[in-house]
Amino acid sequence: MFSELSIKGLKVPCVFVKTQRRRMRLEFRGSKLYVIAPNGADVERFIENNKEWIYRNYLRQKFYEEEAKKLNLYTRSEKELSQTLARFIAKASKELGVTPLKVKIKRMKSRWGSCNAKSRSVNFNAFLKYLPDELIEYVVYHELLHLKVPSHNERFNTILNAKYNQKIVRSKLRIYWFAIQSFEE
Ligand SMILES: [Zn+2]
Repeated sequence: MFSELSIKGLKVPCVFVKTQRRRMRLEFRGSKLYVIAPNGADVERFIENNKEWIYRNYLRQKFYEEEAKKLNLYTRSEKELSQTLARFIAKASKELGVTPLKVKIKRMKSRWGSCNAKSRSVNFNAFLKYLPDELIEYVVYHELLHLKVPSHNERFNTILNAKYNQKIVRSKLRIYWFAIQSFEE
């Protein structure tokens, strides 16, 4: 069911989804709000209680969406992406003193990369092919660093912050994420 919510003067597009779970939750996909709730739940009250969160996040999502429209996406072939990745993997391996055993490129729905430190395997999102080199390099470095430090703890961030301004990089990655989502729909 699709509708529009009026939140503090904003019109927020909204989709209602039924769930078997007992807990209600809200999430944004793009600038659309998904209200996920079981049968008989007091959805109206839930929305009312969370309207500050909805308002704030809607504006944020909208901002990213607008920024995404301004981007020029890179056009790399899959082969070029794997070459670019290989280059940055070699560089990061040298810097960090770790080497992944397995590297896979695949389509992922929620992240740019992932790492399994135990099996020493890393996955990279095939959609990285639309990103500029500097962002691909960050994703590679981030995932390879997980081979050394599996979680996002202080040590992990200290090493990463020495090389990158994470706030800026992550915001750029988010904008590209938005661009690619609209691209794929
Ligand atoms: Zn990570």
